[in-house]
Amino acid sequence: NNFLTLPPSFPSLPSQCTWLSPRRWLNLQEYQSKKLMQESGVAVQRFYVADTASEALEAAKRLNAKEIVLKAQILAGGRGKGVFDSGLKGGVHLTKDPAVVGELANKMLGFNLTTKQTPKDGVKVKTVMVAEALDISRETYFAILMDRSCNGPVMVGSPQGGMDIEEVAASTPELIFKEAIDIFEGVRDDQALRMAANLGFKGPLQRQAADQIKRLYDLFLKVDATQVEVNPLGETPEGQVVCFDAKINFDDNAEFRQKAVFAMDDMTESDPTEMQAAKWDLKYIGLDGNIACFVNGAGLAMATCDIIDLHGGKPANFLDLGGGVKERQVYEAFKLLTADPKVGTNC
Ligand code: GDP
Ligand code: MN
Repeated sequence: NNFLTLPPSFPSLPSQCTWLSPRRWLNLQEYQSKKLMQESGVAVQRFYVADTASEALEAAKRLNAKEIVLKAQILAGGRGKGVFDSGLKGGVHLTKDPAVVGELANKMLGFNLTTKQTPKDGVKVKTVMVAEALDISRETYFAILMDRSCNGPVMVGSPQGGMDIEEVAASTPELIFKEAIDIFEGVRDDQALRMAANLGFKGPLQRQAADQIKRLYDLFLKVDATQVEVNPLGETPEGQVVCFDAKINFDDNAEFRQKAVFAMDDMTESDPTEMQAAKWDLKYIGLDGNIACFVNGAGLAMATCDIIDLHGGKPANFLDLGGGVKERQVYEAFKLLTADPKVGTNC
């Protein structure tokens, strides 16, 4: 995506523009991604989903596991280190007692969870995942994504998983391994095994990890993903390779043939104005200034935002009407812009 590959020194690009990427691509909750993974034979923990604390308690009992992990479901990473406005610390909790699952769920559901990746007020938690916890002896990072410099999919992995991968890339770039995938050939055996070895899987675990990598790639293709990220891809003391976390982004252009996947989008974390814009096929991103932008084409829209900024103003939005726009869309676009209370005020 253009917006993310701009050098950080690029002049006056409104920082909010980096939001374009997650909003443009469908993003599912962890439990939804894990359902898709299960269907592709990827190893994930047994889990249930709950919307209330009593459901969470029931689920914890039903799991009948030695240990349970309770995970807040929001479309942002860093949940483990997040904080709720109920005072509870951590969006991921392990416990052996189902009753504790009920108590913790009570402090998660209906409260906002703030993490490094959310806006500062956080995101309201409406669903929790109740899963069988497994011991983890080692955490690695693995992802498959579409990469412009490779003109296709690329695998990215690191034996240093579980943590912020950007930090690993910055401080120990030699621990990030890449493997370009030929879209026609798919992931070759030697590639999957080399990646598994680079991730630090030894002995029989190497084959198992390579097998998981291939299944994750099959899923990547099958659902038209732009990114499949597993952090951590872990190993257990019993010798199992397991995907402990899951984040999948989808290509919006594939919506017509991925109806089941797109039907899972509950939109509850989407901005209502942006949803209204999407309904009319307008690319609208709300910003915090007071000058409305009404522009035809993403490049020109960005340049317009920059020029406003350069002259000391602040754009109220980014709006790309797109090519071939019809009268009705122009009308709807004006409605969106004029409905924004910040537009035309002095700020
Ligand atoms: P994130 O913080 O949003 O990335 O959420 P994760 O699903 O990655 O969970 C955060 C951390 O919790 C992981 O890196 C693990 O260290 C830990 N964790 C998650 N599930 C389990 C589990 O089943 N067992 C153990 N022992 N740790 C877990
Ligand atoms: Mn994670």
